[in-house]
Amino acid sequence: MITVSSLLDRDWYERYKRISQLNMRSSIYDVTNRCNLRCKGCFFFSSGEDKVAGEETDPAKWGTFVEAEMQRGVNLAILIGGEPTLCLDRVEQFYKRMPTFCATNGLIKVPRDRFPDMMVGISLWGDEEDEKRLRGQNTFLISSKNYTGDPYTYYLYTVTPKQIGRTERVIKNIRDAGLKVHMQLLSNDEGVDGFSWNEAELGDLCMEMDEMLDAYPDTVISSKYYHKVITTGKMLDRTFGWQECPSVTEPMDTRNPRPKRLIRFVRWASDLQSMHRCCTSATRDCATCKDGAAHMSWIMVNKRAHMRSSRDFQNWIEVYEMFAKLYQFLPW
Ligand code: SF4
Ligand code: SF4
Repeated sequence: MITVSSLLDRDWYERYKRISQLNMRSSIYDVTNRCNLRCKGCFFFSSGEDKVAGEETDPAKWGTFVEAEMQRGVNLAILIGGEPTLCLDRVEQFYKRMPTFCATNGLIKVPRDRFPDMMVGISLWGDEEDEKRLRGQNTFLISSKNYTGDPYTYYLYTVTPKQIGRTERVIKNIRDAGLKVHMQLLSNDEGVDGFSWNEAELGDLCMEMDEMLDAYPDTVISSKYYHKVITTGKMLDRTFGWQECPSVTEPMDTRNPRPKRLIRFVRWASDLQSMHRCCTSATRDCATCKDGAAHMSWIMVNKRAHMRSSRDFQNWIEVYEMFAKLYQFLPW
């Protein structure tokens, strides 16, 4: 019988032991339906998720809701929107109760006196040219000033086909601002011309992401196996899609048979009662989904499948460590 210890030498076994104690249980929360940007390709607005429910505005009700979520077993709150920093009183209800990650476009600085160690992930959609084209402004100019040297912040760099061959300059700028970066891929939900992927581009990007990880290991938080899975949509002998996706809201998951999935995962709308189908766009065709979190969770929930060789299981450990670092369950 193949066991964990038969697959790993002492160093890898220590790494495995460290992550096997973490027991992360995340859910995702829309803090608000509003945003101070309107990016072309934003899954939230393009799928009409901003119209699904009215916002709960009473911070006390958010506090009661967060406590019920903790009772449900959630120990990591991932705050998205809209733009969460528009409603810091709601963000605070999470932060003072459990580990909290706040996704933001970085235009409004999270005050560190109020949220000293809250994890912040700043969205970035490319260099100046792509940011202006897709988001209407060069957000990096502002966000990098707001967060220079902040130890609890990283850039979530959404790479587009136009970025191939141009990622290094972006990563150097992030390094020079004293910050970390994690890369994911645009799904192009609004079909912007020239921003959809073809196979050759995905292959080129995979190689480029590997090169960036090798060249900037102190700045890039990633793993080569993650690069391979997200650019091919393949894991071991399986293909990503609706039947495999781990990030479906549990009470809405009618799949039979159910695949391995995130336990108790829910994506809540901002009325604190409605739910969205999954961690991203409710209208996206799963066959085209490039969602980074869904792909890394796909790997993570399929531990046993990776226990077929030492290399496969080491790949699994690296992705788990990457996820844990991104949410500060492990130090960078
Ligand atoms: S900043 Fe984020 S939430 Fe706001 S429009 Fe852009 S992608 Fe959507
Ligand atoms: S759109 Fe992506 S994250 Fe959502 S259910 Fe489909 S595959 Fe999963």
